[in-house]
Amino acid sequence: MMETLITVERARQILASHSFKWNIEEVELEFAQGRILAENIFALNDDPAFDNSSIDGWAVQSSDLPESRIEIGKIFAGSQPITTPLKPREIYRIMTGAPIPPGSDALVMIEDGINGQHRKEYIRRQGENISIGELALSAGDIITPACCALAATIGHTTLPVRSKLRIAIIPTGDELTRLGEPLQPGQIYDSNSVALASLIRKAGAEPIIIKPTADDSKSLHSILDQCAKDVDLILTSGGVSMGEKDYIKSSLLDRDAAIFWKILMRPGGPPLFGYWNDTPLFGLPGNPVSSQTVFYLLIVPWISHPDLFYRKVTVKMEDKLRGAPNRLCLRRIHITSTNEGLTGHSLTHQGSGNVRSLVLNNALSLIPPNTDVDVGDFLEALWLIV
Ligand code: AMP
Ligand code: MG
Repeated sequence: MMETLITVERARQILASHSFKWNIEEVELEFAQGRILAENIFALNDDPAFDNSSIDGWAVQSSDLPESRIEIGKIFAGSQPITTPLKPREIYRIMTGAPIPPGSDALVMIEDGINGQHRKEYIRRQGENISIGELALSAGDIITPACCALAATIGHTTLPVRSKLRIAIIPTGDELTRLGEPLQPGQIYDSNSVALASLIRKAGAEPIIIKPTADDSKSLHSILDQCAKDVDLILTSGGVSMGEKDYIKSSLLDRDAAIFWKILMRPGGPPLFGYWNDTPLFGLPGNPVSSQTVFYLLIVPWISHPDLFYRKVTVKMEDKLRGAPNRLCLRRIHITSTNEGLTGHSLTHQGSGNVRSLVLNNALSLIPPNTDVDVGDFLEALWLIV
């Protein structure tokens, strides 16, 4: 039975239960940034791999008197480790990263002079950061530059990542003109395809933009049949609302292939989720703000990782905002970080066709159903990561 007029949480729950079977790819560390880790990663060696110096100075023995020290040689980073233990009073000049000679248990900084105060904590001890066999990175983590560095430090050359989902974008609408072609009366440019392709790339997946499809069910079905064979997910734009030519909706409903339709959110009320010949299909509304908002709220947690897209924050509003009856309301607001904390402004008119409102603002409000926001109220919002 198709569910309808469901909450955002319920829609997320349903999508999560239709998860993808990601293949695993090994990616070289220099290209792994931004990908999602597919397996847990353990340390193949200790870090540090050996006791070494964190300073330029001397390797000394804490039991010796500082005035009695005698320098007997130098140890550099990359030097073969010394094997003969130090005799009393003997010390080495040592550089950062060089192995600690046996018998030394403290270091003196060059700035403090040869008779200076020794400190044991200047020695970086083998395995103090992570030891061999220990869990270093967890499956599902976003791979950051620091993750790549840690993986290299502990002996890895590649990381297993989720393979990129192939996602078709099908813009539908008789009014759509391809970019670069002259606009005829009554026509608009297809802007959703480029927005969605950018979002899909940011999500770590591979977009395949299909040319705009006219509002007739025959051409729509033939492109859907083709895409269903080729991709992991079909994203359509437009044609899911109550219009007479909203064929995405009517085609899925006629086939009894819709799992949910209509979400209690504004903008972005009419999303549709179902299958076209065994391939998941998500029908986004055509209005530019709606399609992106639905992508942020529903597609991102399903196919990717919210941390790549936004941070949930609380802001103090400096403008009034209207909520919406019975539904979560996602106004576009502009968050500024001030000495008093995060403040939110509402800079533009809020029409769901006004894509400029997503350029001039940087966040989506999460106004609970049936709530208006006053100046001075605290409000949760998703602060979009550029
Ligand atoms: P629909 O969801 O098909 O009823 O379309 C809603 C609104 O979004 C209409 O004003 C459409 O012209 C507009 N629209 C639909 N598809 C696109 C698109 N690909 N790019 C920009 N606007 C669109
Ligand atoms: Mg349409």
